[in-house]
Amino acid sequence: VPTVNLFGLPLANLDRVQTLELCRTWLRAPRTGKGARYVAPTNVDTTVQAGTNPQLLAAYQAADLVPADGNPVVWASRILGQALPERVTGSDLIPALFAAADPADSLRVFLLGAAPGVAVRAAERIHARYPGTRVVDVDSPPFGFHLDPAENERLVRKVNASGADLLILGLGAPKQEIWIHAHAPRLNVKLAVCAGATIDFLAG
Ligand code: UDP
Repeated sequence: VPTVNLFGLPLANLDRVQTLELCRTWLRAPRTGKGARYVAPTNVDTTVQAGTNPQLLAAYQAADLVPADGNPVVWASRILGQALPERVTGSDLIPALFAAADPADSLRVFLLGAAPGVAVRAAERIHARYPGTRVVDVDSPPFGFHLDPAENERLVRKVNASGADLLILGLGAPKQEIWIHAHAPRLNVKLAVCAGATIDFLAG
């Protein structure tokens, strides 16, 4: 992935179409048994947070793709002479992945996060709208900065048992980025995407 380094973060030098196509390529590839790839979009808030939160910075540095999720990040790249083509948000990328999925070979999705009940509502709307996408399971873990080790273990097993190809993480930043960095090596999904409030948007 071509990247530009901005404030220590490896930002993807790709436009929306290229980002979508790369994620689709990753979703078509066979499982390697070596853990999941993950996408961690960054906005101004998380870019600033990464400056003082080493765990968040490490999560971005280890990500397979860090899209510039916001115009100010794109503007900063121009001012610093390493212009990125455009803003690429998780909330656009996720529905685009659902829409691109082939109904003959459905995309299996796990929704992790948001308040209890929200992901179930999102799943109903996804099924009604995107015939190629099937939500195979959901979970709404407890709120708060940390999940305890027993909860992490339960979630890793549940995601792996679901057979999902794509994991959508709506735990809020920086929890979702730190969580996927820690657990991606043990997950057998093909791709995880840090989604912020996208599960809420999908629930309507
Ligand atoms: N959320 C969660 N667990 C938490 C904190 C937040 O599941 O411990 C969910 C929240 O319900 C919402 C999503 O994370 O669906 C995004 O939260 P936030 O507004 O912090 O998102 P961001 O600013 O990252 O888009």
